[in-house]
Amino acid sequence: MRDYLLSLQARIEVLDPQSSQIKSIENEVLHFIHQFQDQLPLDKAYKPIPSMKGKMELSDEPLDLKGILNQLKNDMLNIGLNPASGGHLGYIPGGGLYTGALGDLMAAVFNQYAGIFYGGPGAVKMENELIRWLCRWMSYPESALGNLTSGGSIANLIAFVTARESKKIKAADYHKQCIYLSPQVHHCVHKAIRICGMQEAQIRMIRLDNKFRIDPEDLEYRIKEDISTGLIPFIVVGNAGTTDTGVVDPLDAIADTAEKYQLWFHVDAAYGGFFATVDLKGPDGISVKQKFAGIERSDSLAIDPHKGMFLSYGLGAVLIKNVEAQFNAHYYKAAYMQDTLNSQEELSPADLSPELTKHFRGLRLWLPLRLYGFEPFRLALEEKILLCRFFYEKVSELGFETGPFPDLSVCIFRWNNFRDDSNEWNKKILEFVVKDGSVFLSSTTIDGIFWIRIAILSIRTHLREIELCLQILKEAKSTVLPK
Ligand SMILES: *Cc1c(COP(=O)(O)O)cnc(C)c1O
Repeated sequence: MRDYLLSLQARIEVLDPQSSQIKSIENEVLHFIHQFQDQLPLDKAYKPIPSMKGKMELSDEPLDLKGILNQLKNDMLNIGLNPASGGHLGYIPGGGLYTGALGDLMAAVFNQYAGIFYGGPGAVKMENELIRWLCRWMSYPESALGNLTSGGSIANLIAFVTARESKKIKAADYHKQCIYLSPQVHHCVHKAIRICGMQEAQIRMIRLDNKFRIDPEDLEYRIKEDISTGLIPFIVVGNAGTTDTGVVDPLDAIADTAEKYQLWFHVDAAYGGFFATVDLKGPDGISVKQKFAGIERSDSLAIDPHKGMFLSYGLGAVLIKNVEAQFNAHYYKAAYMQDTLNSQEELSPADLSPELTKHFRGLRLWLPLRLYGFEPFRLALEEKILLCRFFYEKVSELGFETGPFPDLSVCIFRWNNFRDDSNEWNKKILEFVVKDGSVFLSSTTIDGIFWIRIAILSIRTHLREIELCLQILKEAKSTVLPK
């Protein structure tokens, strides 16, 4: 038995090498990563997607590292969208701060247990401190907390489950509950409603103004109407940066109405939240920061550091004032975890979210934040807003019709020939841009109108990329449109 155990141990050693034995693998991987990074400014943001048949093949046999890295390059990195590229101007661009990735590396190697305070006091404290730091920026009270999530979708879900818990709503009454949304709400909110079991609730779509913002008068009108028919207003969701057009709803006015009729007020600031830190005036004389007035009056808020803090995918956050409701909605006592109850100095993520064992995701934010402080982030956010304003002006000079002046760093535009087929021409323009691949844009349809959309949020998007985008749009116009 002993001999066999020792022989097994010798054969397993490969999985857990000493740092001296890992050096060559480490160097080769780092070299590969640095090559990727250095190539970014020269590389396309988008490459055509071939058939994936036979790609990413997997077998039980080992492959040498060179072969593995080649496979990654050919089957993944050189295909489709490159979210790490500064030319990524579609959807909501990705980021990927390198120091964030180093934080992830440490998190993975240390493998601290960030689910429960008793199991990982330092890790849990770090994550809670990050949540409190977010709360301070959003002017939430000291007593608020929330959770670091994998992204905005789970953040919104946790907020909904907590709201439902705080109102003590019984399943038999779900059909009487009214949920007030903007037609521009992110689809993950609809998903959250369904996942939390409330799809039978009455979903009210509030009228928008001509900038695609919730009309607070219509909100109040709809609430009154629902009360008069015996229904129960439950929750209203305001957006601090819609995905389609990047607008901020009138949060203060929504907060007034939510307060008056005692609704839970949730803000989806997954994309836009961090722009609340930018004190930059717009042509209307109102600063970006002022547009977020009222966000501090919400009951819960979703905000994505993997968007506004330029981090790699996998870090969102939900901030919640009624921590007791959050706890009651998520806490579960398991017999095998009875020892963990002894230590309650900090609330544990496992008691405030659906997760137990989880990625120690705080370190990827903590490292760059401690290393650089917040100021460079704020400046980068200011740059993205100004780049969007610059683009807005220049694209209009190219003859494109523009949507509303951007609140943040997203705007929509299109070629308008005042005929029924403009949608088709805009699809062709977008196809041209995507096929060229130097930059990547996406589109949206609002009230039947096809708009091309630019979203500027990559840390690597600077003036060069925006001017390149304008140049390609100019080429697209002269190539695609009828003479
Ligand atoms: C991105 C986004 C979401 C979804 O967040 P994920 O991190 O992708 O899950 C929700 N709401 C808004 C406004 C967003 O921009």
